[in-house]
Amino acid sequence: EVFTPKLLEVQYIEGSGDKRWRSADFTWANKLETYNRKVFGNHSFRPNQREVINATMSGHDVFVLMPTGGGKSLTYQLPALISPGITLVVSPLVSLIQDQIMHLLQANIPFAYLSANMEWVQQQEILRELLSDACKYKLLYVYPEKVAKSDILLRQLDALYSRESLARIVIDEAHCVSQWGHDFRPDYQGLGILKQKYPATPVLALTATATASVKEEDVVQALGLKNCIIFRQSFNRSNLWYSVVPKTKKCLDDIDNFIKENHFDECGIIYCLSRMDCEKVAEKLQECGHKASFYHGSMDPRQRSFVQQQWSKDEVNIICATVAFGMGINKPDVRFVIHHSLPKSIEGYHQECGRAGRDGLRSSCVLYYNYSDYIRVKAMLGQGVADQSAYTPGSRRNVVSTTDRILETNIENLLCMVNYCENDSECRRLLQLIHFGEKFNASDCQKTCDNCSKMLNSVARNVSGIARQLVDLVKLTGPQYSMAHIMEVYRGSLSMNVKKYRHDTLSLHGAGKHMPKGEASRILRHLVIKDILVEDVKKSDLYGTVSSILRINESKACKLYSGEQEIILRFCTTAKSSKSKLEFAPSEPSCFTTMSSAPNTTVQMQNAADLNLSAKL
Ligand code: ADP
Ligand code: MG
Ligand code: ZN
Repeated sequence: EVFTPKLLEVQYIEGSGDKRWRSADFTWANKLETYNRKVFGNHSFRPNQREVINATMSGHDVFVLMPTGGGKSLTYQLPALISPGITLVVSPLVSLIQDQIMHLLQANIPFAYLSANMEWVQQQEILRELLSDACKYKLLYVYPEKVAKSDILLRQLDALYSRESLARIVIDEAHCVSQWGHDFRPDYQGLGILKQKYPATPVLALTATATASVKEEDVVQALGLKNCIIFRQSFNRSNLWYSVVPKTKKCLDDIDNFIKENHFDECGIIYCLSRMDCEKVAEKLQECGHKASFYHGSMDPRQRSFVQQQWSKDEVNIICATVAFGMGINKPDVRFVIHHSLPKSIEGYHQECGRAGRDGLRSSCVLYYNYSDYIRVKAMLGQGVADQSAYTPGSRRNVVSTTDRILETNIENLLCMVNYCENDSECRRLLQLIHFGEKFNASDCQKTCDNCSKMLNSVARNVSGIARQLVDLVKLTGPQYSMAHIMEVYRGSLSMNVKKYRHDTLSLHGAGKHMPKGEASRILRHLVIKDILVEDVKKSDLYGTVSSILRINESKACKLYSGEQEIILRFCTTAKSSKSKLEFAPSEPSCFTTMSSAPNTTVQMQNAADLNLSAKL
């Protein structure tokens, strides 16, 4: 039976600005200070930590939005230590729990965790210990499946609750409850049962993800939180330097050089798309003299925890990993996060980058981007969703519609990411933070992103005419050619391929001859991002290679023809041609940066000192 929470009227109170929670008058105030120093080895509290602890210790339901690395774990581990009874922690990933375990062991905090692949005897032993009068555990970690499917666990929790020994319920990575996010876990939706069964136990929900699509209301409602207090803080990570770099055939050499020049012998993570990529990149870096290793989901648990330990002990510096590595990774001195291929969403990207620079020191986030990775990731998304729904019993009822919807959301998220990469003029921080619903003034970036530090200025141009030509061209050729082929025809190529299909005789052959190639193909890609053209991915049976063909989405295309939709993109102007004053258009606050009716303002060229600075980045 799937538990569906009743629709409650969602209400919550902003806690962030409320001085009450900062007060030192709480009876546990002294204990907090002492334990934070003595047990956790921290000199002080980070922003919002004390406030969150005070609110949850006061018995309220609390929802915490704190960026990755902000220190969410402390906000439940410390209360767990100083409260009578046991704290239940629901956490979605093995690697996450393993990571926590290491730290709890170091800090000497008694805990237990229950997982399905544990020996039954061992599980029973833990469950028995839970009910003993002198239970030694302060924390019990479980996976969401456990809560939904283990009657025994629920019975044990009932017993704890009736003895007033269920101190607190913690839902880590609470955004997994939302179907709209990038980490949706069907079992999280069943967690609402906890608040219903144990209304007097305070719930603490933690996440680093809140976007326009993963709304806090959804999370609060699904978990059934009551009069919940919300603490949120800025997602801007000012010590991280962001850049997007074109990915070429010699990408691995570029990565090697980048590390040698900027972070030699320092710690870093390289996120790769496939497990083969992880191994390939690690091998190459080893050859180049780096202490690199790899980590991915198809390694057995022992291998994985071995690599994780090597990394914690600084025996390897660089981990080439799939996203399986890192949710909750606890290394403060990660100096760089490199994306060897396109991340699946802006939330995912922000979170992965967030593993760098937890100690607050300057760190680099470099994303190697080429458009063809989009096709690869998209193909994998389709596969991934199919797999996911295959092994999530309980959600089977609506598998088809849910699967479609998840896939659709995933592709939307991916397109936002593509658009982020394609954008070569607006502040990276601004582009990310807009996504988290946060206002950010690009001048506060202080040139810590590639776009802000470019000496180049950019100008917005209406390219609807060119866009219409490109759509016309697809109409003329029919829906059977790839983007690259259409580009060849548009640019007037006389290659064998173009001649073979007699495309050199089309009226639009060579219509884009005068344009820089990069610009024309960016407009074509933008048409796909805007869903005016659709790219169908097909796998050729022979070699398993992925190719794609373009077709027209008529309903969207007619808006382009009627003028209802305009295509306005920002293009870089070279330093030379921008000696005079440039026309600038402010950006639209959306994840897609096409602008419709932006008023023009005039902006000065940046000075020579800026040129030097950006040359160093
Ligand atoms: P999150 O779950 O928010 O991503 P973690 O709880 O894993 O973050 O904490 C990230 C890192 O910050 C850990 O290494 C942790 O030890 C450290 N940390 C947490 N709170 C403090 C503090 N008050 N002072 C110093 N370091 C802290
Ligand atoms: Mg965490
Ligand atoms: Zn910037």
